[in-house]
Amino acid sequence: MKKYNFNAGPSILPPVVIKQTAEACLDFDGIGLSLMEISHRSAEFKPVMEKAEALMKELLEIPEGYHVLFLGGGASTQFYTIPYNLLEHKAAYLNTGTWAKKAMKEAKLFGEVVEVASSAADGYTYIPKDYKVPADADYFHITSNNTIFGTEMRYDPDSPVDIVADMSSDILSRPVDVSKYSIIYGGAQKNLSMAGVTFVIVKDSALGHVSRQIPTMVDYRTHIDKGSMFNTPPVVPVYTAMKTLEWIKGEGGVKEMERRAKERATLLYDAIDSSRIFRGTVKAEDRSYMNVCFVMQEGYEELEKPFLEFATSRGMVGVKGHRSVGGFRASLYNAQPLEGVKALIETMQDFEKAH
Ligand SMILES: *Cc1c(COP(=O)(O)O)cnc(C)c1O
Repeated sequence: MKKYNFNAGPSILPPVVIKQTAEACLDFDGIGLSLMEISHRSAEFKPVMEKAEALMKELLEIPEGYHVLFLGGGASTQFYTIPYNLLEHKAAYLNTGTWAKKAMKEAKLFGEVVEVASSAADGYTYIPKDYKVPADADYFHITSNNTIFGTEMRYDPDSPVDIVADMSSDILSRPVDVSKYSIIYGGAQKNLSMAGVTFVIVKDSALGHVSRQIPTMVDYRTHIDKGSMFNTPPVVPVYTAMKTLEWIKGEGGVKEMERRAKERATLLYDAIDSSRIFRGTVKAEDRSYMNVCFVMQEGYEELEKPFLEFATSRGMVGVKGHRSVGGFRASLYNAQPLEGVKALIETMQDFEKAH
C-alpha cells in the first residue's frame, strides 16, 4: 500500500533526496567509499558543506554580514547557546507554545527574560499581536511556526531590536527578511534534512557583546572561524540538507515553496471547515501552513480512535495529534506532494460519509 507521510518530525523528504543520500552512503560520488567513512576534511566532503552554506544564502537571500552554520545538538541546544552568546541584561520572548516556553526556560539562566505576550491561557490557539518589545532588550525571540499547536507567524514581525527566531518547522517555506534577525535557527529534521543537524544563521555584529566567558563549543565565533568544521559535523545530515536545498532551488526556490504550502494548507483547511465531524483547533488567521491541527466536532469525540484506524488503513502515517493537543495533526512540509493532501481529504470525506 502507498504510504502518505504526515509525520511532524523527523518527517517527509523529497524521494530524490532520500535516494541520493542512500547512494552516497553506499558509494560517495564514485570514490569507492561511503559518505559515512570519509573525513569531514577530505577534498570530497568539504564542497558539500560549502555548497550547503552557499545554497542557504542564495535561497534565503541572506545579506552580507551573516554566516550560516551547520551544527549538532538540535534546536534545543540553541535554546541556551543563544542567550549564552547574546543575553547580557534582558531578552524579550513571545510565548506561543511548548518550544517557546522551553527556549525561555533556558534564557532565564543568563539574565532577565520578559515575556512580552503569551497565548498559554487559551491553549496556544493564536499568535498574540498586541505586545510591546522593550527597546532595551538584547533581542526578541519568536517561534515562527508552532509545530505542536499549529499556529504560524508567516511574516517577519516589527521589533525595535533584532529578532531571534526558531524556524525549525517552517524554514525555507517562505521568503524571509533576514536583515530583521540576528539569529535564525532550527533543527533540520522538519523541513530541511534528516535528524542530526541544526542550522544557524547568525549576524556577525550580534556577537561579542556579552561579558561572560563562553565555552569554545558554545561560542558561535568558533564555528564561524572554522566554517562549521571546528569539530566533526554530522556529515550525512549535512549532505541530505545540501541535496534538499538543491531540490528546492530546482523546484523554483522559496517563493514556489510558499505557493505550494498555501495551496496544500488551504485545501485541507477548507475541507476541515466544510466538514460536519471535524473542526480546526486554532484561530483562522494564525493557522500554520506547515502543521494542520484538527479534532472531532463536539458530539463526535468518540470517533477519534476509529478515524485514526481508518486513516491508517488508507496508508496515512503520522496524523495523530501531539499528546498535548489530542486529535489530529497533518504536517505539510515542503516535500509533501499535493497528492498526499488530496488523499487525506478523500480519507476524511469517506469516513464522514460512513458516519
Ligand atoms: C522540533 C522542534 C524543536 C526541537 O528540535 P530538536 O532538534 O529536537 O531539539 C524546537 N523548536 C521547534 C519549533 C520544533 O518544531
